[in-house]
Amino acid sequence: MSTIFSQIVAGDIPARVVYEDETTMAFLDANPLAPGHTLVIPKDEYERLNDVPEEVAADLYATLHRLVPAVEEAVDADASTVAFNNGEAAGQEVPHVHGHIVPRFDGDGGGPIHAVAGEAPDLSDDELDDIAADIDGRV
Ligand code: AMP
Repeated sequence: MSTIFSQIVAGDIPARVVYEDETTMAFLDANPLAPGHTLVIPKDEYERLNDVPEEVAADLYATLHRLVPAVEEAVDADASTVAFNNGEAAGQEVPHVHGHIVPRFDGDGGGPIHAVAGEAPDLSDDELDDIAADIDGRV
């Protein structure tokens, strides 16, 4: 069963498509958090960023890079929040990778992405060193 975003790619359900190339597509979010709220997806279906092959990831970033100024200019935004809900625990509802471009306006009442996680942990220097080394050892 294909995701709702694959159905948009296939043209089976309508969307306000603002950009399309061979491997990526961008369209307006159906429930916008702000005017111009846009989703950027790889056309092929990958659930999480972790699943996206490197060359598709490069295309995806290139499309985000291209769309951010276009979206901001189109709605005269002061800034934008660009983010992926990567996995269910992070709030991802559609299991097809998508980057959100949410235009932001001075005094819009929203917060920074620092507001998305729960209570911040109090980590010691040793714990931070261990985490950094662990990540470094995996890339
Ligand atoms: P997420 O929680 O990151 O998975 O966000 C999914 C987003 O997809 C939400 O912001 C929805 O409003 C949006 N969405 C769901 N269905 C559609 C659709 N058919 N067209 C455009 N946006 C959609």
